[in-house]
Amino acid sequence: MSARVLVVDDLLPNVKLLEARLTAEYFNVATAFSGPEALEKAIADPPDIVLLDVMMPGMDGFEVCRRLKADKRTRHVPVVMVTALSAAEDRLRGIESGADDFLTKPVRDLALYARIRSLVRLKMLGDEWRLRSATSGQFDMPDGGDTVERELPVTNAKICVVDDMPGLARTLGKAVAGDNSTVELVADAGAARALAESGTCDTLLVNTLMRKTDGLRLCAELRASERARNVPLVAVLDDGDDPRLAKALDLGVTDYLLTPIEPNELVARVRTQIRRKRYMDALRANFERNMALALTDALTGLHNRRYMEAHLSSLVQRAAHSRRPLALLMIDIDHFKNVNDTYGHLAGDEALRVVANRLQRNLRPFDTVARWGGEEFLVVMPEADTKIGRMVGERLRSKVAAEPIAIDGKEDGVTVTISVGVSATDGGLSDLPDLIRAADEALYRAKQGGRNRVEAPPEG
Ligand code: GH3
Ligand code: MG
Ligand code: MG
Repeated sequence: MSARVLVVDDLLPNVKLLEARLTAEYFNVATAFSGPEALEKAIADPPDIVLLDVMMPGMDGFEVCRRLKADKRTRHVPVVMVTALSAAEDRLRGIESGADDFLTKPVRDLALYARIRSLVRLKMLGDEWRLRSATSGQFDMPDGGDTVERELPVTNAKICVVDDMPGLARTLGKAVAGDNSTVELVADAGAARALAESGTCDTLLVNTLMRKTDGLRLCAELRASERARNVPLVAVLDDGDDPRLAKALDLGVTDYLLTPIEPNELVARVRTQIRRKRYMDALRANFERNMALALTDALTGLHNRRYMEAHLSSLVQRAAHSRRPLALLMIDIDHFKNVNDTYGHLAGDEALRVVANRLQRNLRPFDTVARWGGEEFLVVMPEADTKIGRMVGERLRSKVAAEPIAIDGKEDGVTVTISVGVSATDGGLSDLPDLIRAADEALYRAKQGGRNRVEAPPEG
C-alpha cells in the first residue's frame, strides 16, 4: 500500500526531514509550507492522510484542520497534528478541531508509520463503504452516503471497558453520564469478547496494561471475530512503549490512549469512535437498503428476476448436492393484454399487484416467488417434487381465479386467470437452464390446452 501523505509545515527543514523519512518507507509524499497552500493541495488532489504542523504563521494547524473537516471534498482525509506542544489542552484542541491524532515532536518513526498505516486503512474501509453506498443508491437515494460523521450524536451509547481496575471505567462513566451513555466494566477476556460480539457495544476500551489478561491478544481476537470486527477498539498503552503501540495499531485497534490518561482526551477519543461506529453503521445500512431495492420489483414488491436468478442457481446447486428435489412453477397471466386494452394500463398494474399478492400468500415461507417478466412469475420450491409442484400450481391457479379483482370502473371486478407450467428435479433434470426450459414448455402446453390450467411433465 503506497499511501499518499501530505506533509504541512512552515519550516523547510522539518518538511524535508519528514519527506525523506516517509519516502524511505515507500510513502508517496507531497508537501505544503502554509495553511492556505495545504488546503489548496488537499482539495485539488485529496491525499490519504495529512501530517499537519500546528504552529504556522497566518493560518495555524487547528484552523487548517477545521477547514479540511468542514469541506465535503476533504472531510474523509485523516489528519494527524504534529507539534512541539504537548500540553493536554492542545491535544484536546486538536482532537476537537477534528484531528484524528496528535503526535508530539520529535516524532518517533515506529509510532508514526504504524499510525499512518492504521489511519489510511480505516480511511480506505470508509471509502469502500461510501462508494458501495453511493453506487448502490445512485438511482434511488439522492442523499445516500451523505451522512456527516462529525454531526452524528454521541448520546445513549454503551461503552465497554476491559480492565482489572475500576479507575478508568469510573472516570469515563462520570464523563459520559451527561451523554446518557453507560459504561460497563469487564475484567476478563471471555466476558469482553461476549459483550463485543453481542452487538450492543458502541466502543470497546481495552487496557493493555492489565496484569492477568493479555489485552493485546484480546484486541487481536476481537479483530479476527466476524461479529466483533465492526466495534471500535481503543487500546490503553504506556507512553513511550512504541513497539507495543505499533503492534496494537497493526493488529487493527482503531485508536489508542497513552498513560497517564487525561480525562478530557479520553472522552474526546471515545466520542470520536462512537460517531465513527454510527457513521459506518449508517453507510452499511444504506447499502443494504439500496441492495434490497435493487433486487425488488417496484410494482409488486416481489423479488425481481435478477434476485431470482442468483437465488435459483444456489438452490439448484444445493438440491443437486444434497440429492433433494426442487420444483419450479412458471406462471403467466392469461389474456392479460385484454385487461390492459379494456380497462387501461393502471387497472392492469393493479391486477398484477393483486395476482402477485395471491401467489405470495398461498406459498410456504421457504418458497420464493419473483416477477420474472411483464405478467410472468416464477416460483421455486425447495423439497418439492413434480407431484407437489403440480398440487401447489393447482392451488395457486384456483386461488387466483376464485375471486374477481376489484378495478376502478368495473363494479363487480375482473376475473383473471393464470396458466402454470411445472418442472422438477425428480424428472431427471439437474441443470438450471434445463429446468427453466421444461417449465416454459409445460406452460406452453397449458396455454395450448385452453389456459387457466396446470401442466407438468409425467411424474417420474
Ligand atoms: P396469453 O394468455 O397468451 O399469455 O396472453 P397475454 O395477453 O397475457 O400475452 P401477451 O404476451 O400477448 O401480452 C402480455 C401483456 O402483459 C402485454 C403487456 O402490455 C402486459 N404487461 C406486461 N407488463 C405489464 C405491466 O407492468 N403493467 C401492465 N399493466 N401490463 C403489463
Ligand atoms: Mg399472458
Ligand atoms: Mg407473457
